Amino acid sequence: MSLPIYQNFVHGKPLANASGETFSVTNPATGCVIYHMEVADDFIQQQAIESAKQGFAVWSAMAPIERSRILLKAVTLLRDNNDALARIEVLDTGKPIQEANCVDVLTGADVIEYFAGLAPAQVGTQQPVGDDFFYTRKEPLGICAGIGAWNYPLQIACWKSGPALAAGNALIFKPSEETPLGAIKLAEIFMQAGMPAGAFNVVQGAAEVGQWLCHHPDIEKVSFTGEVGTGKKVMMGAASNLKDVTMELGGKSPLIVFDDADVSEAVSAAMLGNFYTQGEICTNCTRVYVHKTIYQTFLNELKTRTENNIVVGDPLDPNVNFGALISKQHKQQVLNFIESGKAQGAKLLTGGTELSPASAPNGYFVAPTVFIDCHDEMDIVKQEIFGPVMSVLPFEDEVDVIKRANATDLGLGAGVFSLNIQRAHRVIHQLKAGICWVNSYGNSPAEMPVGGYKQSGIGRENGIETLNSYTQNKSVYVGMTKIDSPF
Ligand code: NDP
Repeated sequence: MSLPIYQNFVHGKPLANASGETFSVTNPATGCVIYHMEVADDFIQQQAIESAKQGFAVWSAMAPIERSRILLKAVTLLRDNNDALARIEVLDTGKPIQEANCVDVLTGADVIEYFAGLAPAQVGTQQPVGDDFFYTRKEPLGICAGIGAWNYPLQIACWKSGPALAAGNALIFKPSEETPLGAIKLAEIFMQAGMPAGAFNVVQGAAEVGQWLCHHPDIEKVSFTGEVGTGKKVMMGAASNLKDVTMELGGKSPLIVFDDADVSEAVSAAMLGNFYTQGEICTNCTRVYVHKTIYQTFLNELKTRTENNIVVGDPLDPNVNFGALISKQHKQQVLNFIESGKAQGAKLLTGGTELSPASAPNGYFVAPTVFIDCHDEMDIVKQEIFGPVMSVLPFEDEVDVIKRANATDLGLGAGVFSLNIQRAHRVIHQLKAGICWVNSYGNSPAEMPVGGYKQSGIGRENGIETLNSYTQNKSVYVGMTKIDSPF
C-alpha cells in the first residue's frame, strides 16, 4: 500500500512544491514510516511570503471582533474534531492517546479561545498635551513566523497562532520535521472557519526552512520553541533585520519537597513532572530535592507507584499511560544519559533500560527511570535529558537548597511542596524560574503567562502580555493649535 504524501499549506490550500523533494515521518511506537511530506522548496517559500502579504492585508483590515468570531469558530472545530486530531498527534509523537485526547487539542483550543476573546478588547489611549493631544494605536507587526518543537506539535501551533492572529498578524508556521501533520490540520480548520487565505500558512522542512524564516526580511517576528542551542541560531538569524523574538527553550527545573509536605502529593507531582508524555516536556522537574527526614518515605512511595502504576505499550491503547520516545536517535541519547548516570555513581532506584512492550515491540521505549544518591555535578543532574529520567537529591537546609536549585544556566520551571505557606512563598520567590508551582506541578492554563528566566527563554506565551508582544504601538500627535515656528 502506498503511503500518503502531504503538501505544504499555502494560501488556503495544499500546494505542490516544484522540486518534488519529500521527507518521511515515522510512528515512534512502531518504527514504521506512516506518510511522506513535501519540503518547502524555493517555490513554496516564495509563494508562502507572497500569500502572507495578501493574507495580512485582508486579515489586519478586519475589525477585531470579526477576527475573533472566526477564531472562535476554529475553536469549536478543534473541539469537534478532538478525537481525530488527538490520533494524529499520537501517531506522530508516540504519546499515549489518553493524554492527547484530553490535553493536546483542548489546551490548544483554550489558548485560541482566550486570545479570540481578548482581540476586541485591545484599546489604545488618548491624552491631552496642553491644547494638543496624542493617541496611541496597537497595530499588528505584519508577517510573523512560528517554529515548533515535536513534543506538543498541534498545541504549540495553536499557542503561537492564537495571539499572533488575534492581534491581526499573518503567521507562517514551521512544525518540526518529526511531527508535521497537526499544523496542516490546524490550517484546514482555520480556512473552514472562514479565515482569509494567507493569514496562516504552513511550511515544512528541517533547519534550512527554519533559517530561511529567521533571515527573511519581510518577516517581523519569530516565535520559537525548541532547544537552547537552536534558539541561539534563530536569534542570530533574526538579527539580520532586527526581528522581534520569543524564545521558549529548554529547562532543568527543580522541585523542592520540604519535610512538612504531603508526601503522596509530592510524589504525584514528581511523577507527573518526569513521566507525563514519557518525560518529553520542557518544564519537567528533573531535579527533585527531598528533605532528608522524608527522603526514604518519599523514595518508597515513588518506587512502588512507578513500578505498579505505569502502563507502557501501544499509545493508541487507552489504558496505556506511558508512550514511546520521538525517535530511535533520541532514545539512544536518553540511554546514553542513563549510562553516564551509572558511570558517575548515581544509583538506580528503578528503570534504567530500554523496553519492548508486547503491544508495541518495535517502538522507541525507555523505562521510567529514577536515580538516587545523585549529586549536583553529575551530567544527569546538570543537562536537559528530555526523557523519563528523574534525579532525586537529598537536602537539609533551606538556604542551601535554594542555592543548589538556582545553580544552572536554565530557569524555566520550579516547584515547592510545603504546607507552611510562608516558607512555600518565601522559597518560590527566590527561585530563578519563570513558571513556578506551589503544591502542584505542570498546570499551564491559557490565562497564565509562561516562559523562561536565564537561557530558558525570552518573552512569554499565553496571558495578556503575549497579545501585546504581537502588536506595536503607534503614537499619533495631533496639533490643535497654530505651529509655533522660529523659521
Ligand atoms: P529543536 O531545537 O531541535 O527544534 C525546534 C524547531 O526548530 C524544529 O522545528 C526544528 O526543525 C527547528 N530548527 C532546527 N534547527 C534550526 C535552525 N538552525 N534554525 C531554525 N530552526 C531550526 O528542538 P526539539 O524539536 O528537539 O524540541 C525539544 C526541545 O524543545 C527541548 O529542549 C525542550 O525543552 C524544548 N521545548 C521548550 C518548550 C518551552 O515552552 N519552553 C516547550 C517544548 C519544548 P526540525 O525538527 O525539523 O529539525
